[in-house]
Amino acid sequence: MTQPSPILSGLRCRCPRCGRGRLFRSYLKLAPACSACNLDYGFADSGDGPAVFVIFAVAPLIVILALIVDATFTIQPWMHLVLWIPATILLCLGLLPPFKGVLINLQYRHDAREGRP
Ligand SMILES: [Zn+2]
Repeated sequence: MTQPSPILSGLRCRCPRCGRGRLFRSYLKLAPACSACNLDYGFADSGDGPAVFVIFAVAPLIVILALIVDATFTIQPWMHLVLWIPATILLCLGLLPPFKGVLINLQYRHDAREGRP
């Protein structure tokens, strides 16, 4: 059985071993095991990694978009707040599960664990 790409199966929030079973049972809560291949997800610990990568992706994007909109249109400062605060929140919430899925898939693929002496 060929292993699925950790990036693709992570973005789809699927099992790192078979690429079919769901990784999450709710928004960010991991399922106990894969429903397709029965892989125990007990190894998975992405920590704060997904949040950090989401911040690194969303913050520059929002700043660039705000600068483009500000240079292109004449809008009031409060309109920036109305535009970019919800956009930031929605983008962050939308990207967290796939980013967490990718990190867990990469953790499984590379057998990454917490450092031991
Ligand atoms: Zn599986």
